[in-house]
Amino acid sequence: MAQLLAGKSALILGVANKWSLAYAIAQAYRREGARVLLTYQGDRQRQAVEEMGAEIGAENVFACDVSQDADLERLRETVRGTVASLDAVVHSIAFANREDLSRPFVETSREGYLLAQEVSAYSLVAVARATAPLMTRGGSIVTLSYLGATRVVENYNVMGVAKAALEAATRYLAADLGPAGIRVNAISAGPVKTASARGIRDFSKVLDGVAKISPLRRNTDPAEVADAAVFLASDLGRGVTANVLFVDCGFQAMGLAH
Ligand code: NAP
Repeated sequence: MAQLLAGKSALILGVANKWSLAYAIAQAYRREGARVLLTYQGDRQRQAVEEMGAEIGAENVFACDVSQDADLERLRETVRGTVASLDAVVHSIAFANREDLSRPFVETSREGYLLAQEVSAYSLVAVARATAPLMTRGGSIVTLSYLGATRVVENYNVMGVAKAALEAATRYLAADLGPAGIRVNAISAGPVKTASARGIRDFSKVLDGVAKISPLRRNTDPAEVADAAVFLASDLGRGVTANVLFVDCGFQAMGLAH
């Protein structure tokens, strides 16, 4: 069967470990024939991500803290030095203080609110600005969102507000970059047990609830999120932009359940 991303190059930000959604996406992009560049936040993850990169045959693995302008500048130069043109970017990054994911939302501090917005939402804008000039033949930018952007999910709090900003940024970026043939979409993934998700209080109850209520009566598999990201980066997704695609076993459609 033809590989859906053959001849394409992809930059994937947000691999921390083997459970990261970004890692599942990197594996799927390699399976579909893409050349892949991975980034990690800082020295703590360097060795682990370099090993994962070697396992899947990544073209380059390098550090990028998206809250640092110098890192974003270096990102652009590193990608430019590795591939002739960039076709896909995956932004799989979020952060909020743990205490803001457990106490009532009304208690969110100014500092905690701004931190979540900077790392989880503004970074998409900054990454798009740094990489769009490298997408000389058009391309795809995909970010990862969650239902808490539009619905109240207990304990998701400040991150829900950041995801609302992220989804709005997706639409504004799609409008700006569409004339250059660059599509910008979000995947709203169902809950998956990752390092970030473990920071949310009572996360295992969320997993249990989704498995009971969602139309498919189970939780989302990271590989399903990754395959949707393949579709969006591939030519099959060529008419899709400014969209939020739910990959959540249908949970978002449910109201009251018995
Ligand atoms: P993850 O493995 O912990 O990935 C989050 C990534 O963000 C980590 O690689 C983390 O690096 C990185 N990051 C945080 N601050 C950063 C910074 N300043 N610069 C660069 N990277 C930074 O967890 P994940 O669940 O796969 O999360 C990936 C994305 O999916 C997030 O946007 C998340 O909100 C979204 N999502 C997750 C779920 C879920 O249930 N898991 C559902 C829907 C959407 P460090 O580990 O080094 O800090």
